[in-house]
Amino acid sequence: MYLFKKDKKKIPPKTEEKRRIWGIKEETLNLILEVSKESYPNEFAATLIAKKGIIEEINLLPGTLSGSGMAILHTHMQPPDITLSVVGIVHSHPSGNFSPSGADLYFFSKFGNTHIIVGKPYNPRSWQAYDARGGKIKLEIVK
Ligand SMILES: [Zn+2]
Repeated sequence: MYLFKKDKKKIPPKTEEKRRIWGIKEETLNLILEVSKESYPNEFAATLIAKKGIIEEINLLPGTLSGSGMAILHTHMQPPDITLSVVGIVHSHPSGNFSPSGADLYFFSKFGNTHIIVGKPYNPRSWQAYDARGGKIKLEIVK
């Protein structure tokens, strides 16, 4: 008990985790919604690429348009030219429910810290960003 307490003291006070990624470009979001719509009834998935805290680009992941979803994504989760600017993954849920599934939560915890799920009908309201633990985060839309 004493040792446990002592160990606990060594842990520095928890500072509020700063979010490195705070926004997404409007045109990038529109592109995501468009590609999601085009991929329906299949899922689509892409890496999210950010510059200076704003998601500006997506990079489509090959082999994710077959409708088998995250299982296939796993085999492609490390693009060959991965850089620090890849911050997470966006994927679509043709079901329209854009909360993360169990498989999504596992994936979120393994790859990046900013993830987006878009759901049918793929409009500016049918998406949500999540952190690595599956907690909802807010992204500003940057024009
Ligand atoms: Zn999913």
